Amino acid sequence: MSTAVSTSVEQIRKEFPVLHQEVNGKPLIYFDNAATAQKPKAVLDALSYYYEHDNANIHRGIHTLAERATSAYEDTRKATSRFVNSNEVEEIIFTKGTTEGINLVAQAYGRKFLKPGDEIIISHLEHHSNIVPWQILREQTGAVIKVIPINDKGELIIDAYRELLSGKTKIVAVNYISNSLGTVNPVKEIIAMAHEVGAVTLIDAAQAAPHHPIDVQGIDCDFLAFSAHKMYGPTGVGALYGKRRLLESMDPYQGGGEMIKDVTFEKTTYNEIPYKFEAGTPNIADVVAFKAAIDFIESIGYSFIHEHEERLLNHANKVLMDIPGMTPFGQAREKTSVFSFNIEGIHPFDIGMWLDAKGIAVRTGHHCTQPLMDWFKIEGTVRASMAIYNTTDELDTFAAALKDIVKKFKK
Ligand code: PLP
Repeated sequence: MSTAVSTSVEQIRKEFPVLHQEVNGKPLIYFDNAATAQKPKAVLDALSYYYEHDNANIHRGIHTLAERATSAYEDTRKATSRFVNSNEVEEIIFTKGTTEGINLVAQAYGRKFLKPGDEIIISHLEHHSNIVPWQILREQTGAVIKVIPINDKGELIIDAYRELLSGKTKIVAVNYISNSLGTVNPVKEIIAMAHEVGAVTLIDAAQAAPHHPIDVQGIDCDFLAFSAHKMYGPTGVGALYGKRRLLESMDPYQGGGEMIKDVTFEKTTYNEIPYKFEAGTPNIADVVAFKAAIDFIESIGYSFIHEHEERLLNHANKVLMDIPGMTPFGQAREKTSVFSFNIEGIHPFDIGMWLDAKGIAVRTGHHCTQPLMDWFKIEGTVRASMAIYNTTDELDTFAAALKDIVKKFKK
């Protein structure tokens, strides 16, 4: 069994050209996957194939290249709809990424429907991109933000969430999986509770898409946003799922070409969804290559991804915990392959720089979750976030490198 798995990971690694290089004279170990994942050849090939063969602007052209580009772009929409199990293909809007998806909902839904005193619930685990858009909306509408607290394992306190909910709650926006701690949140339960008080829900699935199957009908979320680049796809593209009824009720997010039916100087009528929310020439090539990332994940399958990443996390827990001065952050019962930590007496940035000198890429700092770092009363952590192509051998090298760093600093 373990041989079969390691052979497959070996094969998977071959698909990622960037992994096969030395950094600072050492084989690259890439543990910064929660920030962005590396891209398999299929994604790189899809990008260059598109530019070499099909490049044209979409939807309006009648020539062959325009038709090919349009159909490749719309094929990704169909694949994305299947990937998240949306009821209709038109419920998928292409965005720049998770951040834009959340801002779109805050502005196009929140600004239209929220009144002074209405409440938005977020959590203490949120990325800044699921905090700041709601603060902007608060300034614009007079709405109030409430925050679901966490326990010291980095899990949401669901009883406290229940207390926050009321008839005033209009939006509940939480992440599926925390980028800083790896906590997997019980989103189905959170959504059901929000719906009981008539609130709409937005799930930030940026960290879910690479690790965890997404079923928007199964969890019954109203909106869900994610980014291609964290799931082995290109940067600058992502998707927002929204229920048709809600998308149709919303104002446009931006005005311009593509999102209109008719324009006169007196009046404009808007296009149908999803085009109503895709003003201007989109990031066509990256949307096209996004499909290759979806195909890549589907070809591996989440059960293999889950099994392998769980093995990595267990191994990390085994080899990293006995490093002198180690303090891990985030011990949720349900978590993905993220190991966030500090080592007593050494600044996270110093650890990050020493690791880089050994060819190991990790992220250090607040990970765009400053309120979470404040909760732990720390400035930041070192975060090793593992992906499908990482190995237990890499974790052993990582542990040895950390031990070396501790020795150097203790001298
Ligand atoms: N939400 C979470 C949980 C994230 O981890 C990230 C990125 O790290 C984002 C949102 C923002 O994603 P993007 O920068 O791709 O828009």
